[in-house]
Amino acid sequence: MRTPLLLVAFAAACSAAPPQPLSVAQMPAINTDAVLTDIKKLSSNEFEGRAPGTKGEALTVEYLEEQFKAAGAEPGNPDGSWTQKVPMVGLTPEFDGPLTVKKGGTTLTFKVHDDFVPFSQQVSDQVTLANSDMIFVGYGVQAPEFNWDDFKGVDVKGKTIVVLVNDPQVTLPNSTELDPKTFGGKAMTYYGRWTYKYEKAAELGAAACIIVHQTEYAGYPFNVVQGFGGERFDLVTPDRNMGKAKIESWISLDAAKKLFAAGGLDFTTLAARAATREFKPVPLGMTASFSLKQKMRTVDSENVVAKITGADPTVKNEYVVYTAHWDHFGIGAPVNGDPIYHGARDNASGTAMLLEFAREFKKVQPAPKRTMLFIADTGEEQGLLGSAYYAAFPLYPLNKTLADINMDEVNVWGRTRDYTVIGLGASDLDDYLRAAAAEQGRTLRPDSEPEKGFYYRSDHFSFAKVGVPAMHTDSGVDFPGKPPTYGQEKRDEWTTKFYHQPTDAVQPWWDLSGAAEDGRLLFAVGYRVANAQTFPEWKPGNEFKATRDKMLMK
Ligand SMILES: [Zn+2]
Repeated sequence: MRTPLLLVAFAAACSAAPPQPLSVAQMPAINTDAVLTDIKKLSSNEFEGRAPGTKGEALTVEYLEEQFKAAGAEPGNPDGSWTQKVPMVGLTPEFDGPLTVKKGGTTLTFKVHDDFVPFSQQVSDQVTLANSDMIFVGYGVQAPEFNWDDFKGVDVKGKTIVVLVNDPQVTLPNSTELDPKTFGGKAMTYYGRWTYKYEKAAELGAAACIIVHQTEYAGYPFNVVQGFGGERFDLVTPDRNMGKAKIESWISLDAAKKLFAAGGLDFTTLAARAATREFKPVPLGMTASFSLKQKMRTVDSENVVAKITGADPTVKNEYVVYTAHWDHFGIGAPVNGDPIYHGARDNASGTAMLLEFAREFKKVQPAPKRTMLFIADTGEEQGLLGSAYYAAFPLYPLNKTLADINMDEVNVWGRTRDYTVIGLGASDLDDYLRAAAAEQGRTLRPDSEPEKGFYYRSDHFSFAKVGVPAMHTDSGVDFPGKPPTYGQEKRDEWTTKFYHQPTDAVQPWWDLSGAAEDGRLLFAVGYRVANAQTFPEWKPGNEFKATRDKMLMK
């Protein structure tokens, strides 16, 4: 479907001379020495692990501004500055009682931590839920593209909704195998993420949302949920997050079974019924009460934003975005005597690549027609906060933003024959990438663990959620001259030895030759989209397509 906006863009592009085609080989090479220099600087002791609101942030923001300036880029904020302020609040819950559930004269209590793990995003030192009616809403999903609505028009305003984790587990007829055409089968869609459940609760005005934890469907045990207990950062919306449900929480499977049984209901039976389109919400006939105190502190953090204005006056007010989060965890519990969480690969490496892209986009000839926007965003490790803030308060219209290409953790193990795309096939951007990869004699491969929902776990997702086609890649796994298991071994070694630990520092064995090739591909995608006659689109059936189509019709 073509939209009025697309037609304008198309007509404008057609009236100009066709773009000078550049092969991938003709595009600028990634300067890995420069990239490594930037990674070393950003992950050094001096930068203290780059936590938002610390001296590490101040040094990082200053360094990125200097480097973007030296690259010849322009300040990316239309107010003439290099940053976008991102107000955050740190909330630490302090619990004063259990979850109390009443049915007639009977009272049940569920202990915080052992049975029940609650939070509130509402910026308030005290949040109280009093005698709120409880209702089981299945998976809590409204997905028009799958003709699925768990609520069936039932009003849940002020109520406590109890929901299942993951996508509806819809099997093929007479089989235990998941139907790949409904919610992506084994692959998790956004409807399966816990953040979706909380957002739906807020949208429908529920007072509280309780997710039933099932290890098999969550992908991690309950003790991971129990570990969510400390300070959490959040964005401060103008309504101080009062539009969110008061309580967002998890309950253990055992506790949920007890809860349902107290209402004379069988959890397993209802959970099975929830995997059908015919499911209707089931009132539990009981009320929930809970109160929570929180400690609060505010932090003013910043996204660093640079741009290179497009060369074609007819389309220079259209944008191609690259993102990479600059933040990491700062100073924390020491490991082998080192308290600094350097975040060298995660994500000094992507940030350094972003700087390199600014340098190369400034030099490439012919210059891109549309404007290139480089966003080094904050708070990714705290829940994609900087990118979510940009998506909520974009500096340039989202309906003139063609794409976001995200860089998080570059390949440090050398060249690969393949390249991993998280959520491969989501949008036309993958076709650009496939064509570019073919020029390098390489192929694309899908994410090997789609059930973990990685597409929803870095900054590109903030753009996808508001409709902008977004791409996120990961290192390949097929290393020439190495055994077939090598790629997975390196991946596992990364997860166990380095990921989110002080050991994520620059290692002497790092080899950025693969990152240079990958980088050239991501450069090619952005460059070609910036010069293309049409906007890239989501593929039919994608969960973000409806939002994008609506936006472009405006
Ligand atoms: Zn990261």
